[in-house]
Amino acid sequence: MTDYSLENWWQPFTNVRAFRDNPRIFTRADGTFLYKEDGQDVLDITAGLWCCNIGHGRKEVADAVHAQLMEIDFAPPFQFGTPPAFKFAERLMQHTPADINRIFFTNSGSEAVDTALKIAHLYQHARGKGSKSRFISREHGYHGVNVGGTSMQGLPSNRHGFPVLEQVDFLPGMLDIERNAFSRGLPEHGTQEMADAFEQIIALRGANSICAVIVEPVSGAGGMVPPPKGYLEKIRELCDEHDILLIFDEVITGFGRTGSAFASTRFGVTPDLMTSAKAINGGTVPMGGVFVRDEIQQTIFDHTPTNVPEFFHGNTYAGTPVAAAAGLAALDIYEREGLFTCGSEAKGQYWEDALHSLSDLPQVIDIRNIGILGAVSFDPQHLPAKSLGPKIHQRCLDNGLLCRAVGDHMVMSPPLSISHEEIDLFIERFRKSVTEVLGEVKVSAVASA
Ligand code: PLP
Repeated sequence: MTDYSLENWWQPFTNVRAFRDNPRIFTRADGTFLYKEDGQDVLDITAGLWCCNIGHGRKEVADAVHAQLMEIDFAPPFQFGTPPAFKFAERLMQHTPADINRIFFTNSGSEAVDTALKIAHLYQHARGKGSKSRFISREHGYHGVNVGGTSMQGLPSNRHGFPVLEQVDFLPGMLDIERNAFSRGLPEHGTQEMADAFEQIIALRGANSICAVIVEPVSGAGGMVPPPKGYLEKIRELCDEHDILLIFDEVITGFGRTGSAFASTRFGVTPDLMTSAKAINGGTVPMGGVFVRDEIQQTIFDHTPTNVPEFFHGNTYAGTPVAAAAGLAALDIYEREGLFTCGSEAKGQYWEDALHSLSDLPQVIDIRNIGILGAVSFDPQHLPAKSLGPKIHQRCLDNGLLCRAVGDHMVMSPPLSISHEEIDLFIERFRKSVTEVLGEVKVSAVASA
């Protein structure tokens, strides 16, 4: 069908051999829809990959990118600057917690994570606490694919076979279907278990060996798990008590996903460092960044001689004028259309009710949501674990719906610009796909009995 070879691009996180047998190619996107080669529309309930929070194909962003390319396409970011990066950085700070007014731009979330780990380390050295070099992460956490982030990963398949830093301990994961099933918003249980595990790590390692804790405020790639009530507040409290930095990995929770610009503003918990990427400019031009508490930057500056860079670190494409111009245009849309807060307003309620209406489907053991984000977990029953999710995922795709399977959890994170009618369409296509798959699975189980 294609007039190009599928052999040369080694795709990320892809079963490439299976893909070559069954290529899944999108050729066009508009609003909340992607379009396959044959023209079939696919409702994008993933916002690409948590990226296109303003919807696909926004002309305003395209125009801004074009204009910027014609004005100044690129200039070295080391020792030089261009206006869009400074303007974008300044505008972003209208949406961050009060103490956070600095951003170090990167190209991706993975780079943002590794940059945050380095800043945390540098800060501890700058304040004479160089012994604080260990990190605490969390089981099922995902923090990108660079060596630092891989070391912080709590997902075994993303660690095995790769070089990782050894100085990391893990808090327990937050998914607790037994106690928290069908919670709307933040679940009840789990904060105490996290606090106990935190104290155990402190007792074992000593607070003077620990640099920072890194967690996603809402676990994403681990199956979309909102934090239990009081969890983020408690982790902040424990970090303060033990003089440990707190890094929120907001690569997916940033830019309106949870019903505020950031999860930190939604929940009123300010971290010391906050990573971001993906939806920062609507997923149009690669860009990420680390938001930094002012005092951290100041301490590093104060410790550094005035004739050298304060941070020997950075990417060639950091804060490129094109990515920043896209960011400024995307920010106009986020602000004008109220997309940062819609998840905690009427649309968030509509989304929550729609999602929980699926609870009557067979084999559903949990539905959870926060902002414009949700997950439906299935019990695979007589199937091997983690095999039902991929079947549902494929059938959804056949029926014109793109959602994400994490094992037997189906994860949804549509563009925030999704309409109520499109939410209804999602429910219709999802229900149909699940019903079909479960019907077939049941028939084949009976036949083989
Ligand atoms: N951190 C989190 C929480 C993520 O979800 C991701 C990607 O999904 C990353 C980091 C890595 O971002 P990127 O794929 O842009 O490198």
